[in-house]
Amino acid sequence: MGLAEQTNAILNGDRRALAQAITLVESTRDDHREQARELLQSLAKSNRQALRVGLSGTPGVGKSTFTEAFGMMLIDLGLKVAVLAVDPSSSISGGSILGDKTRMEQLSREKNAFIRPSPSQTALGGVTRRTRESIALCEAAGFDVILVETVGVGQSETMVADMTDVFLLLLAPAGGDELQGVKRGIMEIADMILVNKADGDLKSTAMRTCADYAGALRLMRKRPQDPEGFPKAMPISSLEHHGLDKVWAEISELSEWRKSAGVLEKRRREQALIWFQAEVESGVLARLKSDEAISQAWKSLEKLVIEGKTAPEAAAKQLLDMFAK
Ligand code: GDP
Repeated sequence: MGLAEQTNAILNGDRRALAQAITLVESTRDDHREQARELLQSLAKSNRQALRVGLSGTPGVGKSTFTEAFGMMLIDLGLKVAVLAVDPSSSISGGSILGDKTRMEQLSREKNAFIRPSPSQTALGGVTRRTRESIALCEAAGFDVILVETVGVGQSETMVADMTDVFLLLLAPAGGDELQGVKRGIMEIADMILVNKADGDLKSTAMRTCADYAGALRLMRKRPQDPEGFPKAMPISSLEHHGLDKVWAEISELSEWRKSAGVLEKRRREQALIWFQAEVESGVLARLKSDEAISQAWKSLEKLVIEGKTAPEAAAKQLLDMFAK
């Protein structure tokens, strides 16, 4: 398929073309990278924007159940929903979240939904790039809401928060002392904490947990750019579909507010700048390494550093001086 044809197919919401384009941005082959760049540039002109919602939570907390129920609710509201998974751990384990499609059986059958599992065995840097570019592709394809889901490991939450407009943290009901188990950094980037499984026997524990987190959030900091009451904690039941409409109402309120205050635009511009810098940095590194002489010098300097014969600073300078020539 030629570039113009591919561009048109995606702009028309052709799901096969979208899936193929995501496969393209997942590839690290040089010719594929070139094609991906051309495609993204060609699609950028459409200037379509979706609401990007980040979602994080540890395995078992109910991300898939939430996404299925929440996604179906949005579809019933007439919206088009894309779900992307980010799983840096799969580069280590070889596994893949959302890999098991049956977990989102209903949603995956909807014509207005698009679910893309995280590819396994991707290098960490590749995960970031792939996600950002996949978001751009889904936006061009006309999706209204893009849910970017990640497991709560390492830096993936920050990465997802850096790419989304609103960030949700899904938690399970727990004893009071578990509150400390959630890293402060993650609470700081969350716009909403959703305490899931607020049903049956777990309901009262969930309400308590929710109140604890609400208290913790109030103590944390003020966000002058957000409406009163944010960030907030809410109890939900993904299984019984309780509170999901409220979650959507809150997301809408927050994003509308940020839109009218110009915060969303500013955030996106900053995100684009961060991305530009990251691309330049990784590009410079890749070009350095592709030079035969430099790559050889790199290896011998590495050896000298390991053996303690050259200080890291001096070795780095030696390498950079070679590049400057
Ligand atoms: P994920 O690993 O975060 O994607 O979690 P899953 O969505 O696979 O859910 C893990 C388990 O929790 C499953 O057995 C779900 O049925 C259960 N679960 C998810 N949401 C709820 C809920 O709202 N209430 C209850 N009681 N169980 C839930």
